[in-house]
Amino acid sequence: MALSFAATSNPSPVSPERRAEILAAPGFGQFMTDHMIRATWTDGEGEGWHSGELTAYGNISISPAASVLHYAPEIFEGLKAYRHEDGSVWTFRPDKNAERLQASARRMVLPELPTEDFLESLRVLVEADQAWVPAYGDGEKSLYLRPFMFGSQAFIGLKPVNEATYMVIASPAASIFKGGPKPITLWVAEQYARAGAGGTGAAKCGGNYASALRGQLEGAENGCDQAVFLDSSTHTYVDELGGMNVFFVTKDGKLVTPELTGTILPGITRMSILELAKEFDLTPEERKVEIQEWKDGVASGDILEVFACGTAAIVTPIGGLKWQGGEAPPTAGEHGGEVTRGIRERLLSLQQGRTEDSYGWMH
Ligand code: PMP
Repeated sequence: MALSFAATSNPSPVSPERRAEILAAPGFGQFMTDHMIRATWTDGEGEGWHSGELTAYGNISISPAASVLHYAPEIFEGLKAYRHEDGSVWTFRPDKNAERLQASARRMVLPELPTEDFLESLRVLVEADQAWVPAYGDGEKSLYLRPFMFGSQAFIGLKPVNEATYMVIASPAASIFKGGPKPITLWVAEQYARAGAGGTGAAKCGGNYASALRGQLEGAENGCDQAVFLDSSTHTYVDELGGMNVFFVTKDGKLVTPELTGTILPGITRMSILELAKEFDLTPEERKVEIQEWKDGVASGDILEVFACGTAAIVTPIGGLKWQGGEAPPTAGEHGGEVTRGIRERLLSLQQGRTEDSYGWMH
């Protein structure tokens, strides 16, 4: 039976004045809305997903023996809600987030949440907290939605959980990079891998991000904004960034991105950009990309533009690449290349409803 999310408690909402103050400069991930969603899954006959609720945002109580605190069965999603000119609120391809959460659940041995329940949970939360969705035309602001699920069973020992908790929280967001979409410089994390063959790289699980942080910090120590991770077996091929996929625009008209080998998160922005390539007269290509090809390509001019993509930052130009003992010549100029900017604007205009949704991507 489909889950419903009835209101079980009324929050004492943030005052309209304070909310306006927050929405004027929301940053990213700092402020939460008034409500949250919660549902429980229990194993056994006749059980499954139940106890869906819309409740006041606040701390939760779990057992110190909860599996998530020990063995990390935890998965999550991230997507944005945008307000369109007529005041309606839209999300971008949320069915794809539902499917990815299901794929992550299979990998991490958590229960799958049906797509209709996932979509309903978002709808209920966004409706309750619609005052938190930034106004149409207010820059790139949106309401970031964070669905997540974790093993909440109180048991010390490694086995599939018999209880899981699903939640959704929401946070108003400006652009993830301070100062807007300026080109970023990447650090090639040669020492630290994000994911390995047969591992969990293709799942959106918390552990992947904890393990990527060391490489990111190494990058920061070397004056870079983010790190790019390589395949862990040969350190030869480009995987992705800690939280974004990567694309190359080549001189011969290709839009190249590393193929999904199981160590890369299948980004929904990535998937959409591959579909948009034809609008830019580019041939999409998913294949292995050597880090050496990147270094040589930007030096020789065979690679014209490099950019990263993901829900949070949409499309971000990559202007520099550094590694232990070297760096590539800068690309992207001050604001990123023409294709990078074009794709960014195309996606954002669809998401913000400034152009007709010819792909049927908005929900
Ligand atoms: N790679 C990683 C590791 C990520 O965390 C994300 C963000 N979810 C992405 C890529 C981009 O995915 P999406 O376009 O679905 O946001």
